[in-house]
Amino acid sequence: MLISLPQDFYTNLSKKYDIAINNGHMKFNGESAVNNIYHEKVNNTTFDCQLTFLKTLMYRPEKGEQKINPFAEPEPELTILDDFGPEDEFKLVYNKYPVVPKHFMMITKEFISQNTPLNSNELLAIYSVLQTLKNAPEKQEWIAFYNCGEESGASQPHKHVQFISLPPENFRPYPEDLISTSEPFIPSTTREPLQNPDIPFAHFVAKLPNISEVDKDDLTMIFSGLLQRVLTVLRENEANHISYNCILTTNYMMLVPRKKAKYAEKIGINSCGILGLFLCPSEETFNLCKEVGPLEILKDVGFPNTAGQSTDEYHY
Ligand code: AMP
Repeated sequence: MLISLPQDFYTNLSKKYDIAINNGHMKFNGESAVNNIYHEKVNNTTFDCQLTFLKTLMYRPEKGEQKINPFAEPEPELTILDDFGPEDEFKLVYNKYPVVPKHFMMITKEFISQNTPLNSNELLAIYSVLQTLKNAPEKQEWIAFYNCGEESGASQPHKHVQFISLPPENFRPYPEDLISTSEPFIPSTTREPLQNPDIPFAHFVAKLPNISEVDKDDLTMIFSGLLQRVLTVLRENEANHISYNCILTTNYMMLVPRKKAKYAEKIGINSCGILGLFLCPSEETFNLCKEVGPLEILKDVGFPNTAGQSTDEYHY
C-alpha cells in the first residue's frame, strides 16, 4: 500500500520552485544550458545519452561532511514537505543546484549514512512519490536515483534520494528496452535480473509488477535481489568498498556496481551518468565527454558486463 501525498503536492512543487528560483535560493542557469542528445549504436542496441553543459553545477559542493551538513537543517525556502514517510522520518527538499527544474530530494530527518542500502520504508516512500508524479497533470517521465557508497558519485554523506524529470523527447533510457519483453522480476536463484550484453558494464534491471499492487516487502525483496548481484560483482572484482548506483521508476529498478567515481579523475559520474545523462560543469569536461564517448566512460567507471552468468548458492 503506497503512502498518500497531499492532493496539491505537484501544484505546490511547481509553485514553491518558482518562488525559490526567483528569490535566488537555488542556483540554476537552465535556460543557457547546452543539451546534446546522441544515439550510440552498439551491436543490436541503441544507447541514448544526453551531454549537458550546465555552468551552475560548478557551485555544487564537491564533498560534504557530517559536520557541515546542508541536510541537518534544510533551508525553509527549499523545504517542500517537513514530514513524510511511514513514520514521518523523511523530508522532501529541493536540490539547491538543480540539474532540471523542480529537481528535489527525499532526505532522512536524522543523520543516516549514504553508504547504507535502501530500507523498506525508504523504498515505499520513493515509490509513493514516483506514483504521485506519474499522475501529475504535467506529463513528464520522472526517475528517482540513489548514489550509494564512496565510489558512486555521491557528494553528501547524509542519506538522500533524488528525483528528476527525464528529457522530454528523443531519449529512451536503455533499461526500457530490456523490460519491454520481460515478465516482472521475482528474485530466486533460478531467475536472473535483466542485463543487456551489448552494454559494456554490469547493470542489473528488474521489471516491476504493477506498482499500485506492490507492497513494501515486494519492493524490498526486489531491491535485495539486485543488491545480491552487485555484491557478487564487487566481491569477484576484489573491490574494497560497496558502491553502486540505483535508479528507480514505476516500471523498473536498476542497480549498477561502481569501480570508481570519476573518469580520468576529471568527469564525475553518478546515477544520472549511468543512465546516459552526463552532467558537465565546465567546457573542458563537456568536450572530454564528447571526445572519449559516453560508453567508454561508463565502461571505465563500472565493472565488466556479466550477462549470461548464472547465480548459485555461493553468490551473496
Ligand atoms: P549527491 O552528489 O548524490 O550526494 O547529491 C547531493 C546533492 O545535494 C547535490 O546534487 C547537491 O546539488 C545538493 N546540495 C548541496 N548542498 C545543498 C544544500 N545546501 N541544499 C540543498 N541541496 C544541496
